[in-house]
Amino acid sequence: MDLRDRTHWIFDLDGTLTVAVHDFAAFKASQGLPADRDILRGLETVSAQRATEIRTALRQWEADLAHAAVPGPGVIDLLEHLRGRGRQLAVLTRNTRANALRTLRAAGLHAFFDARDVAGRDSAAPKPAPDGLFRQLALWGAHPDEAVMVGDYLFDVVAGRAAGTATVLLDTHGRHGHPDSADLVFSELSELTSRLATQPPGQSIGGPHASQKS
Ligand SMILES: [Mg+2]
Repeated sequence: MDLRDRTHWIFDLDGTLTVAVHDFAAFKASQGLPADRDILRGLETVSAQRATEIRTALRQWEADLAHAAVPGPGVIDLLEHLRGRGRQLAVLTRNTRANALRTLRAAGLHAFFDARDVAGRDSAAPKPAPDGLFRQLALWGAHPDEAVMVGDYLFDVVAGRAAGTATVLLDTHGRHGHPDSADLVFSELSELTSRLATQPPGQSIGGPHASQKS
C-alpha cells in the first residue's frame, strides 16, 4: 500500500494530533461509571438524569483539557508535508466538535483544517462506528480507497477498516501489541512523515519501525 497516493487524510485528535492527557479511567472512577466500558457506553448503564449530569461533567472536563492542548511530536511536520502536497485534511474525534475546535486552536493546529472538516461525537455516531468517516468522505466527494484514517487507539483502526479506508495506528508506547490490526503501525509520526517523503514509486512501505499487512 502506497500511502503517498492517498489524497484524503482523517485524523483522530486526542493522543494523535495532541499529546494525550485524558485520564479516562480516573474520570470514570470519579463519576461511578463502570471501568470495563468506554465512557459513552458506560452512560447507557446509569439513569437518564445521572447520564445528563455526567455528560455535563464530561464536557466541562474535556473543555478544561482542550484549553491546555499542545501538538504531539512530529505533528506539525506531518501536516505541513501533507498540505504541501495538496492533501485534504480532516479531524474525527469522540470528543465534542466544539471541544475539538478549541483543542485545535489551543494547540496551534487550526490553520491546517477547514472547520467544516472537524467532526465530533455530536456530528455522527462516534468511533468505532464508521459513520463519521462516511460523513467526511461524502463531504469531500471522496472514495474510501483515496483516504487514510490515522489514530492512536483501536477504535480509530476499527472505524477506518469498517469504512474501507487505509489505517495507520500511532502506537507510541507499544501498548496495543496487535500491529496486524492496522495497515501500518508507527511508534512516532515522524516515521510516517519520513516514509511519505522518501518512499520511491512502486516500492512498498516497510522497515524496522513500520509493519505492514499484506
Ligand atoms: Mg485518540
